[in-house]
Amino acid sequence: MKCTTCGAPSAVMVSREQPEQHRIELSRVCELGHRFTTVEVPLTMLADKRELTCALRNIDRRIARFVRDSAIAEDPRPVKEVAAAYNLTDARVRQIRASFPDRESHDRFAKIASNLERKFDGTPC
Ligand SMILES: [Zn+2]
Repeated sequence: MKCTTCGAPSAVMVSREQPEQHRIELSRVCELGHRFTTVEVPLTMLADKRELTCALRNIDRRIARFVRDSAIAEDPRPVKEVAAAYNLTDARVRQIRASFPDRESHDRFAKIASNLERKFDGTPC
């Protein structure tokens, strides 16, 4: 699997079976040393394939919300104008902006979101 930060190939360092949660957690490291964790869910563990579709749809929603929130965080307009533009309360806009405190982690998450988007592109939901 490609690194979620830089796109370089990665290798599995540790694999932890979590039968009570019906999943296997994989700790990975890429050629440049970025560490990240993925989760494998054996399809036989899903009672119904619709559960998978639902899980993927939830990921899509989270990505969409992240993209919107990062646009709000970067919007140079005053809180009131941004709140009106996105149909949110002023408090919610301030909250979203506070959750994007530094540029570096913003870039990192933007990269992760775009990788996820690519990965799930074309998945029928
Ligand atoms: Zn990397």
